[in-house]
Amino acid sequence: MTDASESGCERCIVAIDGPVASGKTVVGRALAQRLGWRLFDTGIMYRAAAWQVLQNKVPLDEDESVAELIRDSRFELRDAPGRDSVGLDVYVNGRDITPHIREADVESTVTVVAANRQVREMMVAHQQNQASRGCMIVVGRDIGTVVLPHAPVKIFLDASEEVRARRRAAEQNAGADEESVLVATRRRDARDRSRRASPLVAANDAITLDTSNLTLEESIDTAEQIVRQRIPDLSASSDAGPAESG
Ligand code: C5P
Repeated sequence: MTDASESGCERCIVAIDGPVASGKTVVGRALAQRLGWRLFDTGIMYRAAAWQVLQNKVPLDEDESVAELIRDSRFELRDAPGRDSVGLDVYVNGRDITPHIREADVESTVTVVAANRQVREMMVAHQQNQASRGCMIVVGRDIGTVVLPHAPVKIFLDASEEVRARRRAAEQNAGADEESVLVATRRRDARDRSRRASPLVAANDAITLDTSNLTLEESIDTAEQIVRQRIPDLSASSDAGPAESG
């Protein structure tokens, strides 16, 4: 396993964890753009794993079969030029499945696949390898606690359930019903917080940023201030370089 701290990139990693729709990706993307870094949203890997399990019709409760399928599948992350200036696309066995990872069946099964201990071990190794490739904002649930415990900046983004459900409903489509989004959000968070393998929890040394009463711009500005306080020589670290597939 490669740890970003071992590869000398430790000083330019920002770990952002938090529950569903806390703004991790949108804040992470804006930060990446401001700093000229890469955004690595680790959720895309668990979504890709869930998509692969669904495609192959492996029963979700068969942990060993799920792990075996994921072990035998090739997951790659590639730059997404044109579509996304800072983010990555996810490929499974050579196919770009990025357009499918937000579909409803993936959304409703991803937490089950993400609770599989063996799947997590494989994904974490992959993520540590990816994070060793340059300056990155790494977004997820266990980045500050498990994936990159030596990250110099750890932010735990949070917001009230109601605010998060409202934001998620607005994101989905004009007709999305806030109440059912709230129920789905609660269910996914409860699974992520209660699973045995690396549950969603703030790292002891993370700074919690509650965005319930902040605008998006205020949230981004505050996150940027935290990063600049923690990494004073930031301009010297802004050498993201191209992310390779891996
Ligand atoms: O962040 P996103 O909503 O795309 O994540 C989808 C799911 O992937 C989460 O609900 C969680 O179950 C899982 N996940 C995880 N660890 C991460 C990132 C995502 O368990 N680092």
